[in-house]
Amino acid sequence: MTAAAHPPALHHLRGTLYAALIPIPLPMKTVTVLIDLSPPVTLIDTSINTPEARQALEAALSALGLHWPDIERVIVTHIHPDHYGLAGLIEERSGASVQMLDHSVKQERLWSDWERQLPAQHQFFAEHGAPPNFGVGEAQTSEWVCPAVRLTPLQAGQQVTLDGAEWQVLWLPGHADGHLGLWQPETELLIAGDAILPRITPNIGLYVGGRPDPLGDYFATLESIRALDPVQAVVGHYGPTMDKVAGRAQEIHGHHLERLDELLVAVRERPRHAYDLSFVLFARELPPSGRRFAVAETLAHAEYLRLGGAVQRSWVDGVWQYHD
Ligand SMILES: [Zn+2]
Repeated sequence: MTAAAHPPALHHLRGTLYAALIPIPLPMKTVTVLIDLSPPVTLIDTSINTPEARQALEAALSALGLHWPDIERVIVTHIHPDHYGLAGLIEERSGASVQMLDHSVKQERLWSDWERQLPAQHQFFAEHGAPPNFGVGEAQTSEWVCPAVRLTPLQAGQQVTLDGAEWQVLWLPGHADGHLGLWQPETELLIAGDAILPRITPNIGLYVGGRPDPLGDYFATLESIRALDPVQAVVGHYGPTMDKVAGRAQEIHGHHLERLDELLVAVRERPRHAYDLSFVLFARELPPSGRRFAVAETLAHAEYLRLGGAVQRSWVDGVWQYHD
């Protein structure tokens, strides 16, 4: 079957596996949702809880002769709104089993408990030098997620069947603590989610309640992707697929090493908090949500340096200052 036989946003990948590019209100414009027609009928990722995304996914399903009740299983690569957002709605309409890595299951409750978590998040950013109004706009993020009621944990190393083949569940932390990948050893195809992306580097951020060294985690993830050397990866954005995956992993690793050098120079100039340092790594003007990602990413780099002994931090007047 050729791509021309489908609506433009639907791509035939191989066998019974299709990729739908679903619109999202974020700079990446679309997210990839994989649809496997082999039983159990499976979605990998769900897109975001907006009317546009719901309609686009419904249209993609219907172009493949599917309706919501046909979906039997949903596998979520990670719990960010653009990947997990429709899981609860799909679960409700189909009774599908919603599956994710055990680590994501623990963190997923964030979405049902969003209001209660906000003060801790504001405090976290305030302790890293952010101004008082830094949390404005966060309410929208939780509207983008319709959480599933029941979650089935997957373990790294276990096998799942897709397109009539066995795929190995991988743990690829960094962009999200519980980021899942799927690896098919015979075809050397990787379902990567946002663990690796063309055109942009996945945001690697330190957040409240997260693992302590997301950049260190991500370096290990890039190394394992490089070692697998996939023929092709299915990616969450700017896809649905990318080639030269190992080379891209190498390139992203180099990008973060440069960022670490820039940060080290800035910290050696004078003690600075992470909000201030975020303007060293991300100098351009950003909307509040963009600045939050920038501060979280700066913190991931600063903590990587600190845990490796290259910089230190001190508590000064209620704010963490990084210094050498
Ligand atoms: Zn994403």
